[in-house]
Amino acid sequence: MTSINEFQELMKTLYGDRDLARGPQGTMLWLVSEVGEFIEAMVKREPIESLKSEAADVLAWFCSVCNVLGIDLETSATSKYNRKCPRCKSSPCHCTAK
Ligand SMILES: [Zn+2]
Repeated sequence: MTSINEFQELMKTLYGDRDLARGPQGTMLWLVSEVGEFIEAMVKREPIESLKSEAADVLAWFCSVCNVLGIDLETSATSKYNRKCPRCKSSPCHCTAK
């Protein structure tokens, strides 16, 4: 089991220098490209192993974007979504579905 923080740190170790050199906008473009690949695999009904691989890439690139911007993803996410919906403060959420 790896925490979000550990995974984000792994991405920093593996790619941090390159990500910083590329900068936030360039890294965000890679993230968007990976989201596109994930969507394409889903639409083409590719095997689940392909979808898992694309999902991993999306998470990896999202962590890279957060690293470049200095965002601690685990702290940010768990403080905003602190065991309840941040809008209605309920679990499960009772907001009107959109
Ligand atoms: Zn809600």
